[in-house]
Amino acid sequence: MSKSLVERIIRADVRALSAYPVPDAAGFVKLDAMENPYTLSQALRDELGQRLAAVALNRYPVPSYTRLKEQLCRHMGVPAGFDVLLGNGSDELISIVSVACAQAGAKVLAPEPGFVMYGVSARFAGLEYIGVPLKADFTLDRDAMLAAIAEHRPAITYLAYPNNPTGTLYDAADIEAVIRAVGDDGIVVVDEAYQPFAQESFMPRLPEFNNLVVMRTVSKLGLAGIRLGYMAAGAALLQEFDKVRPPYNINVLTQAAAEFVLDHTAELDRQAAALRNARTALAAALVELDGIEVFPSAANFLLIRLANADKVFAGLLQRKVLVKNAGKMHPSLQNCLRVNVSTPEENSLFLIALKESLQERI
Ligand SMILES: *Cc1c(COP(=O)(O)O)cnc(C)c1O
Repeated sequence: MSKSLVERIIRADVRALSAYPVPDAAGFVKLDAMENPYTLSQALRDELGQRLAAVALNRYPVPSYTRLKEQLCRHMGVPAGFDVLLGNGSDELISIVSVACAQAGAKVLAPEPGFVMYGVSARFAGLEYIGVPLKADFTLDRDAMLAAIAEHRPAITYLAYPNNPTGTLYDAADIEAVIRAVGDDGIVVVDEAYQPFAQESFMPRLPEFNNLVVMRTVSKLGLAGIRLGYMAAGAALLQEFDKVRPPYNINVLTQAAAEFVLDHTAELDRQAAALRNARTALAAALVELDGIEVFPSAANFLLIRLANADKVFAGLLQRKVLVKNAGKMHPSLQNCLRVNVSTPEENSLFLIALKESLQERI
C-alpha cells in the first residue's frame, strides 16, 4: 500500500503526538489553567478600549518594541545594562531558545515533573531531552541534577521557579549550584512565570552569571489572553535569540494593551496579593480535610494528593468544577490534583464540590 500524503511529508514523531488538550470550560468554575480570576476595573477597561480603538491595525508593528521593553525593564526589576526579548507568550520564547541552540548532539535538561513545553519544544527542534526526577516531596534533587549535568553537559537547563505543576519553590542555593555546574557549556533558564505569587526572583542576580536567562510572562499575572512573555539575559545571548524571533511576533493590540496595563500595575499587584492570601486560606481549609496532602506552593495553585483522585476529579466535573487531573501528566503525580487559587467565592465552590466528591468516591 502506498503512503498517504500525510505519511510522506509529516514527521513520524509529530504524527505520533496528540494535540495539546484544552478542555471546553464553558459553564464550569475554571480552576485548571492558573488564570487570574479577576478582571480590570470598569474604569480601566473603558480607558483601555479607547487606547485599542486608536491602534493602527493596518500597520505592521514596529519590531523594536522599544517603549514596551522599557516599561517591562522598569516595572519588572531588570538590572541596569540588561535588556529583554519579547515572545508571543513564554511558550514562544522557549521555542526560540530551542531553535537557536539546536546543534547536532545538543541536549536539554529539566527536573520532572515540570512544565511540559520544555520537553515538547526541545523535541520539535530536534534536541535530546533529559528529565531528572525531583525528590518524592518535589524538591530539587541537587545531587541528581549535578550528576546529570556532569554526564550530559546540557546546552539548555530549565528550572521553573516556582515549579509547575508542583508549586515548589526550589532552594536558591541549589539553583545557584546548577548554574555554576552548567558553567560555560550551557544556559540555565530560570522560568519565573509565577513570580507575582512567589515574590522571589533571580532577576536581580543576572549580573552574577553570564549563562543565566530569566524568563517571565504576564499570563499568570492576569493577562493570559494577550500572550506576552519576556526574557532577560546578557546582550550577547539576547542578540542571537533575537535573530530567531519572528520579527512581528507581538501584535499591535497586545503591545498597546500591555503598555496600558504596565502603567497601571497597582491593580494587578493588589490582585496578586489577594491571591497569595487566598492561597494560605485554601491550603489551611484543605489540610483540615481527612486524607488530603497539600504540597507547599509558592504559585497561584495548589497540588494536592488524595486517594482515588480520578473519582474525585470526575465528581468535581459533575459539579461543574474543572481542575487539572495531574496524575495524567506524570507517574510521580499519581492521585494528585492541581487546583487554581481563585476568588474567595470560587474557592468555596471548589471546597464544597470537593467535600461532596470525597464522600461519594468509594
Ligand atoms: C504557564 C507557564 C508558562 C507559559 O506562559 P505563557 O506566557 O502563557 O506562554 C511558562 N512556564 C511555566 C512554568 C508555566 O507554568
